[in-house]
Amino acid sequence: GITIDDVTKEFGEGEESIVAVDDVSLDITDGEFVVFVGPSGSGKSTLMRIVAGLETQTAGDVHIGDTLVNQLGPRARDIAMVFQNYALYPNMTVEENMSFGLKMSTEMSDDEIEQKVRSAAEMMDIDMLLDNTPGELSGGQQQRVALGRAIVRDPNVFLMDEPLSNLDAKLRTEMRTEINRLQSELGVTTLYVTHDQTEAMTMGDRLVVLNHGDLQQVGTPLECFYRPANRFVAGFLGSPS
Ligand code: ATP
Ligand code: MG
Repeated sequence: GITIDDVTKEFGEGEESIVAVDDVSLDITDGEFVVFVGPSGSGKSTLMRIVAGLETQTAGDVHIGDTLVNQLGPRARDIAMVFQNYALYPNMTVEENMSFGLKMSTEMSDDEIEQKVRSAAEMMDIDMLLDNTPGELSGGQQQRVALGRAIVRDPNVFLMDEPLSNLDAKLRTEMRTEINRLQSELGVTTLYVTHDQTEAMTMGDRLVVLNHGDLQQVGTPLECFYRPANRFVAGFLGSPS
């Protein structure tokens, strides 16, 4: 699992400083799907970036599995990220996009890598697109490639920050199901940020509500909705009063 222990992130210093994440603690168990919601600026992405190793917290500890990862860079963590802008390399083929990370960070042979890419591509139903470049793909297909690239690494943790927000409503619904299928098939612990009410209420085992960097409530989506911890949560989720 993942343990987030009294994690604080302050940007800047003194009067100008912003506390983006304010003493957040959270235990996430192996294989759990946890959805993070909150208004713009509430610290969701900063928290993801800290777990990813893209940002260093000002205070607190992060464990992934039994490993204290505070000092580890992103490549050394057992994670794969899927963010809003797919961040595919435009000049590489789908195949190259998917294999690049493995080539950079492992000792795997080319054959082994090709095998992994092929099976991830089949899983995401993009095996017929391996020779195309991202520019030749639809938004939904690009998103499938981004997910394929994430699973190629065989990570124990997925970090997803609004992965579907660039897609139209129909594709969003399709990919929501796809991500849930993948996640349960692979049993990957998943941290998922969204603005979308339907995603928040349906995708995860637990919901985490943030405001101004503060944890407001952690619970099943139904608990948070029907038994909001405070007025903020009730208002944000649109709980019945
Ligand atoms: P959104 O829903 O809009 O994506 P968010 O919940 O992901 O918002 P964050 O991006 O984590 O919010 O930002 C939290 C706070 O930290 C904001 O006030 C933001 O301005 C600030 N912040 C984030 N990154 C930086 C940075 N690199 N330097 C300074 N301030 C930052
Ligand atoms: Mg964000």
